[in-house]
Amino acid sequence: MFVPDKTCPKCTSPQYKFRGRKPVDANEKKGLHPGIETKYQCGPCGHSWKVWVPGELPTMPPAVSGAPVVGE
Ligand SMILES: [Zn+2]
Repeated sequence: MFVPDKTCPKCTSPQYKFRGRKPVDANEKKGLHPGIETKYQCGPCGHSWKVWVPGELPTMPPAVSGAPVVGE
């Protein structure tokens, strides 16, 4: 479970807003592994920042053969 920082890194206010989240592809030039980038913006001071976590998006286990397909 990913838990973001609880306070703004600039003014330490906890009143930040979640702005968005996006997957980030690996960047071989920068030596980066794929991850998830989450963007926040502080309410009081307006500072915005990003939090990157190495990403392994949760992978779905392979469907069990023979199991009934629900939905669709
Ligand atoms: Zn702030």
